Amino acid sequence: MLAICFLDLDDFKPINDTYGHQSGDRLLIEVTKRLKESVRETDTIARIGGDEFALLLSELESAQEASEVLTRLLTRVAMPYQFDHVTAVISASIGYTLVPGDSGDPDSLLRHADQAMYVAKQEGRNRFHLFDVEQDLRIRHKRENLSRVKKALAFFEFRLFYQPKVDLRRGKVVGMEALIRWQHPDLGMLVPSDFLLVLGDHPLLIEIGDWAIREALTQIAEWQTLGLKLPVSVNISGNHLLHPEFVSRLADHLAAFPKLNPRYLELEILETAALEDVTHVSRVIGKCRELGVEFSLDDFGTGYSSLLYLKRLPAKTLKIDQSFVRDMLDTPEGADAIAGIISLATAFKRKVVAEGVEFIEQGIVLLRLNCDVVQGYAIARPMPANEVPTWVAKFCPDQAWQASLNLPWRRSDFPLLAAEVEQRRWLKIVSIAVERGDSSALVNRISNLRESSFGHWLYGVGKERYGSLPELHKIPDLHRDSHRVSAEIAVLLSRGNATQAVELLAEQRNRGRELLEGLLALRRAIVELSKKPPPAPDSSFQSTFG
Ligand code: C2E
Ligand code: MG
Ligand code: MG
Repeated sequence: MLAICFLDLDDFKPINDTYGHQSGDRLLIEVTKRLKESVRETDTIARIGGDEFALLLSELESAQEASEVLTRLLTRVAMPYQFDHVTAVISASIGYTLVPGDSGDPDSLLRHADQAMYVAKQEGRNRFHLFDVEQDLRIRHKRENLSRVKKALAFFEFRLFYQPKVDLRRGKVVGMEALIRWQHPDLGMLVPSDFLLVLGDHPLLIEIGDWAIREALTQIAEWQTLGLKLPVSVNISGNHLLHPEFVSRLADHLAAFPKLNPRYLELEILETAALEDVTHVSRVIGKCRELGVEFSLDDFGTGYSSLLYLKRLPAKTLKIDQSFVRDMLDTPEGADAIAGIISLATAFKRKVVAEGVEFIEQGIVLLRLNCDVVQGYAIARPMPANEVPTWVAKFCPDQAWQASLNLPWRRSDFPLLAAEVEQRRWLKIVSIAVERGDSSALVNRISNLRESSFGHWLYGVGKERYGSLPELHKIPDLHRDSHRVSAEIAVLLSRGNATQAVELLAEQRNRGRELLEGLLALRRAIVELSKKPPPAPDSSFQSTFG
């Protein structure tokens, strides 16, 4: 093993200044002597600058041996120096890097040792510090990424994709959210998590944000010439919003589109919880609103200070974070949490938008909880701008939403909706498991119907309330059939019998579809039943949800 070291004396200049250059020279000669005495025959010492030395320690047995030599060296250097009737004390800081380990060329090895020497200085001098190869790689990687992103902006490689916001109650498209994409020449279309994270809070993020506002305005104006009048929201990082020139630049952007009503632009504030000065932020929002631009608080419910922000920030809309939508039908608490956020928003007179709606059933529940505007894959994935006009023209809301408006859904019947979502998810999980030939995702999840929350509903409230419906009695069999096939698939996969598992997948799909149809039939039957006068009112539900 080889250690390449860079040694720099601490506070050498005061020695020259106090005792004169001749004394300084004598001290350097003495230091050199001690260095020579502390290393072995096979090692090399070079003076490469005023008080800088390079050392090459060769034939080391281990990294430990290197630090032993360096400890010895520092101790020797730090002993008092006697010359010209004065006693001087000086110390040294050493940075070093080890080969193998560091695979740089000779020049970079010395540079790495030099960098490590600076760390030794910063950490208090009179010590040595080993160059951190991995950290250096990370830093270099980050620097390269940054400069690549910078180039992407200069070369117009960024795009805005648009995801519709839909009012389920009115069955109308009410706006679009602009989401940035990077059309990378080698890597294809990248999503924000691939490239925005590395930026941290680098000022480049602000430049990108400015670009996005400008681009969105251009797009809004273009759509308006086609007769498509849709508000577009742009995501803005908290740091961008706090930039001293944010308001004036926004005004400049808007001024570039004099014919455009600014209310068509909305801003979604990200990482609200990280914003420290609420008073300042709320003032900035206020000024932007004077320009005609409204705000949403994005990812609401994540982070810690949501309530305070909700109270103090004059944002028109809350966007319920997708994690709440995802959990909504999984447990009764999930539904309660989202109901809570919606009533909170109502109490503070804010509008709500739910993001991440992937299943029709989630939309039904959201409607029931008075959250009408939603976004998510169940409606559309983010799309390129040129696809938007056709998509809007063709948009036709799923009739289940409109139909559900007339259904007297009770909160306690949500497990039935949850079961439908669960079944769809399950089919997806099984398909993926078969595709990968891996049973591990299935093994722990083939559950007992009675233990699932749907099972509790089925054998509890469901049976009690709808026990008279033949549709209800068909469900356990359908459920058992579907799970029997899943279990068989899991066994086949764990035995490595992929071909037969693929064959059974078709069977699984049929069983799953039958179960879904059974659940739908049950829902219809429940609706029919509820059209007749109810035998006894469900008071707990009535009091909360009317
Ligand atoms: P966001 O603003 O909360 O946007 C929602 C994200 O969820 C988008 O991811 C969207 O594609 C995705 N999404 C929408 N519907 C569904 C769904 O049903 N299921 C699931 N699983 N996901 C859904 P995307 O486009 O990757 O953006 C991620 C985040 O990047 C955004 O979260 C936003 O925080 C940030 N971002 C996007 N564009 C910009 C931008 O122009 N500037 C800045 N600073 N941040 C941006
Ligand atoms: Mg957003
Ligand atoms: Mg969000």
